[in-house]
Amino acid sequence: MPDIENDPVVRLSAGDPADGPLATGAATLVIGGEPIAFELTVPAGPVAVDDILPIFQGLSSLLAERATAKAAADGRTLSCRAGCGACCRQLVPVAAAEARAIARVVRALPEPRQSAVRARFNAAVAAVAEAGLFDQLTDPGERRFETGRAYFRLGIACPFLEDEACSIHPDRPLSCREYLVSSPAENCAAPTTEGIEKIVLEADPSLAVLKADLRDGWLPLVHSLVFDETAPPSARDRTGPEILADVLGRL
Ligand code: SF4
Repeated sequence: MPDIENDPVVRLSAGDPADGPLATGAATLVIGGEPIAFELTVPAGPVAVDDILPIFQGLSSLLAERATAKAAADGRTLSCRAGCGACCRQLVPVAAAEARAIARVVRALPEPRQSAVRARFNAAVAAVAEAGLFDQLTDPGERRFETGRAYFRLGIACPFLEDEACSIHPDRPLSCREYLVSSPAENCAAPTTEGIEKIVLEADPSLAVLKADLRDGWLPLVHSLVFDETAPPSARDRTGPEILADVLGRL
């Protein structure tokens, strides 16, 4: 998490110099009417969106921290706590880049944990298929909210939820970082938006990445491993700075 109190420049980076040259640039983003100075480092050459995902994860966490601080100043308290997985049975939309990153996280897990997590993914995909929701989930069209409620009713815990806590917290999807509420935590465990008071972020990196990566499409987190194994490789037809400009331009 950037230390914006002691260093007014927010530094975010992605990429490994061992894999090729990196490019560093300064950018000022106006967020919530306030200019914020960034120093951003990304691979200089052609990459996939998932190669620079850490930039968007950092940005998402920064915005969540700002939104939480502003809510606190308005007398609202964040209900989200470690050990509360009330929202982790909801449909989590991820961009293709995030699905790739999630698959990498799973591949890196040691055994026997990796097999246990894979088994949970397989069970979730099977439950979705058995409920006849697969097509609706992968192409919900105008039925996003209806689809989300139908998914929630299945009661599928996220494959990464362990002891009601996120077991991949540093690597969690953007939409998980951005889902903050000040309403009672137990309200997140009901398949309805009633009683949910969201803490709204000043910008929405998860949506910007979705638009840049899938042209407004998305897939459910539980389909990440299937997607990674069956979809064609990610396009690498844009440089790191080009992808960065695309996503930031959509905030
Ligand atoms: S990735 Fe973590 S925070 Fe997101 S739904 Fe799964 S367990 Fe919850």
